[in-house]
Amino acid sequence: MTAILIDNAAGIFTGLPGVAMRAAGQIRIRDGVIVEIGALEPQPGEQRLDAQGGVIYPGLVSTHHHLFQSVLKGVRSGIDLPLAGWLRAVPYRFWSKFDEEALAVAARIGLAELLLSGTTTVADHHYLFSDTFGFDPAQVIFEVARSLGIRLVFCRGGGTTARHVDTDRFAAMPVETLDRMLQSVEACAQRFHDASPNGLSRVALAPTTPTWSLDPGELREVIAAARRMGVRLHSHLSETADYVDFCLSVHGKRPVHWLADHGWLGEDVWFAHLVHLDDDEVRILASTGTGMAHCPQSNCRLGSGVAPADAMARLGGAVSLGVDGAASNEAADMLCEMHSAWHTHRAMKGAGAVTAEDVVHWATAGGARVLGMPHVGTLAPGQQADIAIFKLDDVRHFGMHDPLIAPVTCGGSAKLRYLLVGGRIVVADGTIPGLDLQKLKSDAARVVTRLAA
Ligand SMILES: [Zn+2]
Repeated sequence: MTAILIDNAAGIFTGLPGVAMRAAGQIRIRDGVIVEIGALEPQPGEQRLDAQGGVIYPGLVSTHHHLFQSVLKGVRSGIDLPLAGWLRAVPYRFWSKFDEEALAVAARIGLAELLLSGTTTVADHHYLFSDTFGFDPAQVIFEVARSLGIRLVFCRGGGTTARHVDTDRFAAMPVETLDRMLQSVEACAQRFHDASPNGLSRVALAPTTPTWSLDPGELREVIAAARRMGVRLHSHLSETADYVDFCLSVHGKRPVHWLADHGWLGEDVWFAHLVHLDDDEVRILASTGTGMAHCPQSNCRLGSGVAPADAMARLGGAVSLGVDGAASNEAADMLCEMHSAWHTHRAMKGAGAVTAEDVVHWATAGGARVLGMPHVGTLAPGQQADIAIFKLDDVRHFGMHDPLIAPVTCGGSAKLRYLLVGGRIVVADGTIPGLDLQKLKSDAARVVTRLAA
C-alpha cells in the first residue's frame, strides 16, 4: 500500500462550485485515492509531500486538443489568418508529411507542456487517418501518454467527406467510408478504452465536424454507434460564423437545432468551441447536458470570438476548458487558458461575468463532467489523487493577499512542486522524471526542419 500525506499548503481549491471550492489543511492518500482532507496528523509510514506554502488544485482537465499540431506552432503563413485560411495554411498543408516520429515528438511536446501546467487529463482530437501512414496514430499517442503517466481520452476523428480546399497544392484531407471509420473506432475502443475510475486511457468517437466531415444521412448512425460502443461523442461546432451560415443556408436551421434533429445532443456528447450560439442554442445545450470545450486562447488567436461559456454555466450547463491544437494556440498551458478565460469574459461583459473560482471549476470538475470521469476533477475523499501543487515562489506571486487564486490571476505559469496522477508523482520540482527535455528540443527542431522542407 502506498501512503502519502500532502502537508504545509497555503490552501486548497477543491474544484467544487461556490463556497465548497475552498478547503484547508492536509490531504491523505492511500493507494492512489484521497481518503481525508482537513487538519490531519502524520501517521507512521506515510510519505510526506511538502507543499512549501504553495497551493493545491485538482489536476487540470483539458477537453480539446490536437497533439499532432505541437510541431506546427507559429507557422508564418498562417499566423494572421482566420480559421478557414489558417486550416489551408497549416494543418491541410502539412498533414501528409507526418511520419511516426513527427507524431510521437509532437505528442511528447504537447503532453509535457500540459503536465508542466498542472494538467492530469487530456482529450486529444486526432483526425489524421490515412492509408499513406505506415503506423497507427492511436497506438503512437497512447504509448507516449503512458510513458508520461497522464490520463488520455483519444478522440478518434476523421470524416467520410472532406471540406473543399480551393487549391491543388496540398494533398486532400484523408477520408474513409463510414463503415470503415466505425470499425476502426470499435477496434480502438476494444484495445484502449478503460472506464474504470483509475484507468488512464479512454476512447471517444469524434468525426472532425458534423457540418463538413459527414453526410447528414450518417449522423444518426454515428451517434447510435457511439452509444452502442459505450463511448462518448465529440466534434467541432460553431467555431466561426461560417458554421451558422452554412447550416442556415443548406439545412435551414442553426447548427444546434439541426443537430438536435439528428439526436446529437446529450450528456455523452461534447463540442469544441461553440462560439457562435444564440440564446436558444445555449439553453438547449445546457438543458440536455451537452458539453462545451471552451478554448478561449485559440478563439482569440484565430479571431473567432468569445464563446458564451459564462451564460451556459449560469444555466447549469457542462462547461470545460481546452487548449486546442498548438497550431492555433502556441501556449498549450491550462494555467494560461484559465487566465485568458478569466480576462476575456470580464473584458466583454464586465467584472461580474466570471470569477477565478468559476474558471478553476471549468478547468477541473467541469472537464471531468464533460468527459464523464466523475472520479477526477475534484478533491474529496474517494476521488482519484490527481493533484497539482503549485509553488508561488516567482516574484510575480509576491505580495498576494489571496494566494489560492494566484495561479489564475497572476498570468504566466506557476511552477509545480508536485503533480500526481492517481497518487503517482509525474512532475516533481517542475521537471518530468525520465523526460530529457534537451533531447526533445533537438528532436522537435529536426522534425520542424523536415516538415518545412
Ligand atoms: Zn480543434
